[in-house]
Amino acid sequence: MRAILIHGAGDIRVAEVPDPIIKEPTDAVVRVLRACICGSDLWPYASKPVTPGGDRIGHEFLGVIEDVGSGVSGFKRGDVVVAPFVYSDGTCEFCREGLHTSCPHGGLWAREGVDGGQGEAVRVPHAQGTLVKLPVGEDAALLPSLLTLSDVFPTGYHCAKTAGVNERTTVTVIGDGAVGLSAVLSAKRLGAERIILMGRHKERTDLGREFGATDVVEERGAEGVERVRELTGGVGTHAVLECVGLEQAVDTAFGVVRDGGSISRVGVPQFDKVSYGFPEFFRNITLTGGVAPARAYIEELMQDILEGTIRPGLVFDRAVGLDEVADGYRAMADREALKVMIQP
Ligand SMILES: [Zn+2]
Repeated sequence: MRAILIHGAGDIRVAEVPDPIIKEPTDAVVRVLRACICGSDLWPYASKPVTPGGDRIGHEFLGVIEDVGSGVSGFKRGDVVVAPFVYSDGTCEFCREGLHTSCPHGGLWAREGVDGGQGEAVRVPHAQGTLVKLPVGEDAALLPSLLTLSDVFPTGYHCAKTAGVNERTTVTVIGDGAVGLSAVLSAKRLGAERIILMGRHKERTDLGREFGATDVVEERGAEGVERVRELTGGVGTHAVLECVGLEQAVDTAFGVVRDGGSISRVGVPQFDKVSYGFPEFFRNITLTGGVAPARAYIEELMQDILEGTIRPGLVFDRAVGLDEVADGYRAMADREALKVMIQP
């Protein structure tokens, strides 16, 4: 079969690799219908050292069950399923608490002998705990929105949930990438009436407005902070959803959060330390967020997609075949595409 390999920064290739097979009784083999490129895939795309032979990549996919191990029940050949971006057993104490990302038997795709999602098929470890059956056919028009359940939409939702967003909270979302826009959609779904989106790409912030943003602030840094404060009577918002991962975005978050409010971070941090000293302590600011246990949210969020009340798949503005994936990475890295879907 064919899969995407990354050979180093800027070097994405499609190659012939061995077909996945059941290795453990808890495995399943899934033929990929749709996968996509994540903002976090752009970090190795920018900086990975040269890797002879290449490594598999990709952690967002949905597909069709081709084969299941003897220890997997509840799934059969032909079922359409979605995989969250971390696999997990579904039975340990962390999984039962809804923190599947801390599962001691879990792990990341495309690491340590586990397949990446960007390819024609994937061996899924702990399939019974990991996969969620989607009640749709292989050609469903909803596939792009259902694909967002793999990562980007639950990540935005985790951000809004951990920040305590509800109908009484005002919200600032920092970042107009696919996660930021998913956070807007999530805040809206949780009832927030005032959602300020900080971003400066008009076509993205327009989609943010469609998802529920009431105000858009283009300015960054101190100017952006001032603008949000102006919009909120000088006090900032109860919840701040940080969906970038750069230090400046965290500084902005502290600038726009209201005293007693929460900052939730889901942008993968590209820095080591957050300053939380006396000023932040004195303002009673809660710092929360972290990697999203996507598996915990899939069933809940899936219902709204199936009912057609939300369309998170609108974040995909380009679809490519395997042969064009390298160009898809380039387009996302150049901010020419918001999020690229792959149809193997
Ligand atoms: Zn577990």
